[in-house]
Amino acid sequence: MSFSPLITQLIDALRCLPGVGPKSAQRMAMHLLEKERKNGAYLANTIHLALEKVGRCEKCRTLCESTLCRICSNTKRNQGLVCIVETPMDILAIEQSGGFSGIYFVLMGHLSPLDGIGPKELKLEQLDQYLAAGEINEVILAISPTVEGQATGHYIMEMVKAHGKSVSRISYGVPFGGELEYVDSNTLSHAINSRQLV
Ligand SMILES: [Zn+2]
Repeated sequence: MSFSPLITQLIDALRCLPGVGPKSAQRMAMHLLEKERKNGAYLANTIHLALEKVGRCEKCRTLCESTLCRICSNTKRNQGLVCIVETPMDILAIEQSGGFSGIYFVLMGHLSPLDGIGPKELKLEQLDQYLAAGEINEVILAISPTVEGQATGHYIMEMVKAHGKSVSRISYGVPFGGELEYVDSNTLSHAINSRQLV
């Protein structure tokens, strides 16, 4: 059985979502067209609006639709304590643990010389500027213990030390290769509080 061109296009488009294979995409497309036309329109509108309005926080680079995210603009947060994370999802995981009162800096990737990703591509000079401006007192690295993650962490560590500031690494209570978003809140909270100076 083959679908009409527009249905085929919808199925193909749905496959850009993580974990959605051909069968799930077909089921989703059929479901939207058969039973959820109204919600489908709402979904399409919301996707359109979010893609248009959501950008990155000027300071920490997490995803948000304002110049500064809610954490960076919160004066109750310790703006001198910066936790370096890989993705906005990591921020969510740490926030849910409730064990951190500082702000974040999102890397948006790893240093990977073989793929042509250096400090410039990750715009790490932004962090260097904050350090030079004396805005940061302590940096915590919450980066996955992969080879590339560790190389990135090492680069940042040297950068922070060059400015005479302290840098620590959270201790993971998880097996190597575990991603932050899959670590439970208690473990994560403990990992932040028992961070080790490096
Ligand atoms: Zn921010």
